[in-house]
Amino acid sequence: MQYEIKRGHKFFPKKTWEKVLNFLARTDEPTPYLLMDSDLIRQSCQKIGRGIKNSKVFYAMKANPDIEVVKFIMQQGLSFEIASEGELSVLRMLNVGPDRIISSNPVKSPSFIREAYSYGVRLFAFDSEHEIEKLRILAPESELYVRVSVPNEGSEWPLSKKFGVEPDRAVSLLLLAAERGLNPVGITFHVGSQCMNIYNWSTAIDKVLGVWRKVESEGIKLRVLNIGGGYPIRYTREVVDIESIEKMINETIFSQFPEDIEVHIEPGRAVVGEAGVFITRVIGKATRSDENWLYIDVGVFNGLMESIGGIKYTMIVGSRAKPKRWIVAGPSCDSFDVIARDVLLPEPNIGDYLLIPSAGAYTISYASEFNGFPIPKTVLI
Ligand SMILES: *Cc1c(COP(=O)(O)O)cnc(C)c1O
Repeated sequence: MQYEIKRGHKFFPKKTWEKVLNFLARTDEPTPYLLMDSDLIRQSCQKIGRGIKNSKVFYAMKANPDIEVVKFIMQQGLSFEIASEGELSVLRMLNVGPDRIISSNPVKSPSFIREAYSYGVRLFAFDSEHEIEKLRILAPESELYVRVSVPNEGSEWPLSKKFGVEPDRAVSLLLLAAERGLNPVGITFHVGSQCMNIYNWSTAIDKVLGVWRKVESEGIKLRVLNIGGGYPIRYTREVVDIESIEKMINETIFSQFPEDIEVHIEPGRAVVGEAGVFITRVIGKATRSDENWLYIDVGVFNGLMESIGGIKYTMIVGSRAKPKRWIVAGPSCDSFDVIARDVLLPEPNIGDYLLIPSAGAYTISYASEFNGFPIPKTVLI
């Protein structure tokens, strides 16, 4: 693959590249930093949920909690899914009403529950009796939805091992919640992040249908089917488009569930991922045995953490030299700080820009100041 800044890349819109290059032409901002294209965020906000009847979209804030980004998403009309006091405090600053906030983390800290409840948040996920007890005391009369574990095969960032229960247990937990005076209202699941297997959603929906029917046969009317996040974005490969995924989800749901259910969608990656371009610079090069090493000023610890979990980013340099194979690594002294192997790139000079598109999600939100490298800034353009 040939990377050229001026012509952009087959996946990434020309307009975004024009904005990015215009920004680079007039800035002296030190690298690394993350540029977020507001036009692309707006487009994803408009697209997501459109294919699913009675749906409401809650942006999973952990993907990118930058306040300017969140404010922009709020202005597009989305609601929010949060897990911590920190995320709540950003929404509070922006005056987001509690009816636009839910928390789908099945295990929440007591102090977070207290604060969210006092702000007015009423929709919480759970998957254990302990969580019911916490919510009964700290968030009485809340509306609860149970997390069911579903297959995560084909997702690049699986989320099913940590949370979720099997259907039988989900039924008894919903019944128990009712017995304890809370309001069981629905079911949630997560197919895994960057999910490339669209059948994960239909398998999951079929799996939770049994829970829904069983609970309703016990006299409890449910209302909410929360289908989690997981919509994939383009990194180095084409992915199934959201329209096709939602068409399939919509058909699977509405051929089996009651017409009047509310469908909650919680995308994180798909809202902000493709809108971000990491602006980094080459800080060094080395040849070790047969290997060409390229060092840039952002790495695993200050923004590209997902590269160690299997996310393969596209990298773009302006050089027109003959492409070479590189191992690309970050700036820290830690040997974990290797971003990618086998990257074919024309040889850049030290000091040149290296751009990484589709870096808007799970980058800055994961970054630390390890080894003294500051957390990169986010700039909305
Ligand atoms: C992280 C998370 C999401 C968002 O997942 P994406 O794969 O980024 O869409 C949604 N819901 C829950 C409960 C999450 O933990």
